[in-house]
Amino acid sequence: MNQETVLRIDEARIAETLATCMDRDAGHVREVLSKASEMKGLAATDMAVLMGISDPELLTELFATARKVKEEIYGKRLVLFAPLYISNLCGNDCLYCAFRSRNRELKRRALMQEEIAAEVKMLIDQGHKRVLLVAGESYPNEGFSYVLKSIETIYSVKSGPGEVRRVNANVAPLTLDEFKELKSAKIGTYQLFQETYHRETYSKVHLGGKKADYDWRVSCMDRAMEAGIDDVGIGVLFGLFDWRFELLALMQHIAHLEKKFGVGPHTISVPRLEPACGSDIASHPPKPVSDDDFRKIVAILRLAVPYTGIIMSTRETAKLRRETFALGVSQISAGSRTNPGGYVEDEEFDSSQFSLGDHRHLDEVIRDVARMGYIPSFCTGCYRLGRTGKDFMDLAKPGDIKAHCAPNAISTFEEYLLDYAAPKTREIGESAIEGMIADMAPLPGQRSRVLLEQVKSGKRDVYC
Ligand code: SAM
Ligand code: SF4
Repeated sequence: MNQETVLRIDEARIAETLATCMDRDAGHVREVLSKASEMKGLAATDMAVLMGISDPELLTELFATARKVKEEIYGKRLVLFAPLYISNLCGNDCLYCAFRSRNRELKRRALMQEEIAAEVKMLIDQGHKRVLLVAGESYPNEGFSYVLKSIETIYSVKSGPGEVRRVNANVAPLTLDEFKELKSAKIGTYQLFQETYHRETYSKVHLGGKKADYDWRVSCMDRAMEAGIDDVGIGVLFGLFDWRFELLALMQHIAHLEKKFGVGPHTISVPRLEPACGSDIASHPPKPVSDDDFRKIVAILRLAVPYTGIIMSTRETAKLRRETFALGVSQISAGSRTNPGGYVEDEEFDSSQFSLGDHRHLDEVIRDVARMGYIPSFCTGCYRLGRTGKDFMDLAKPGDIKAHCAPNAISTFEEYLLDYAAPKTREIGESAIEGMIADMAPLPGQRSRVLLEQVKSGKRDVYC
């Protein structure tokens, strides 16, 4: 790879920004919030100003601005997915993870293709359409082709009226050629978290295996995008190092991808360290992030990169998840298990990666979010129509994507309500849909009605 285009996180610049910008007066904070309302994103120096807020009144204003931007860009949609853990074999030694090679307490398991198909059937029968494949960094005998075969298996399963329509993947960094194979397997988003962008901390918590190489990991998205994977998802594992540093480093990563490929990441994930079997630091994070700071993280990201999806997993409790939907989260997992075979066996422990904060089943989550007025979306329209990467952002930034997203959210939610929902969920969901259409502009409103009628008359997988 051309050395000039390799990402180097400039730690000194981050330290200087934090030292000089965090302590600003209320007037300055309000200036930044007013700029953020324009939905054009924020510079690192602006983000640092928001990070420094401690006054409760200004904090309320920060959250209100994030809420406004979230609402304006994403409306009431909330995209839903389920993780699918296919294997917990791993050759790395990440101190925070139950899958690490030196953890002798963990029951190891790599699912056979038939077992993967059985897991997928369970997810489809719950109503899922979007799956995130997850694995440790060591594959059974056949190597990386295990992942490719697994994606093929996932797409091949049909059950009743359902199927998985988009497979995203969170697997260890690949070579350029492997990424090309992943692209040919019709991957949706390729997701990988740097965990921490702070090099010294990174070395301290990644003790062995390929993952100990910081540069191999930080350059991963460059290879993915060079291989033609347009939608990539980045993230930080919060709790390892100072969250303020991590956010500014994340912005450097985004700026690097934008400069080199003309588009940044499709999503950002915000996992916080959760207890994990055989890991001491997972229960005692070196730099714990409080719930208050976690809300701030979501709000600041929403304002800094308004058009990038923010993903919240079931690591967090139902209460915190609810609060962060309003502040900026646009995608959530639901009904998750983090152990291979966990859906069929309906158990969480023994072989799980970490413990969950939200244990509810999909229907319960859906009922809850619909009651709050959100429209759970299983939409896969953009990916299926090739609206990915820069094409997606070119539609998203002027606000044109909304005319597609809202109708597609409604049609996929209606599919869920008719095919899978409990009666009470259906009742609440139908009224949330009517409420949303009533608030829509004429064009997306009409499109929504057309798609809704198609689904009601028995058609499936309709989108625009
Ligand atoms: N093995 C691949 C890797 O490490 O990138 C992909 C799968 S790994 C299971 C997915 C993510 O789980 C990691 O990137 C890490 O951020 C997260 N994770 C690991 N241990 C965790 C813990 N104790 N609490 C919360 N998230 C954790
Ligand atoms: Fe393996 Fe990923 Fe867990 Fe590290 S985080 S031990 S690489 S599964």
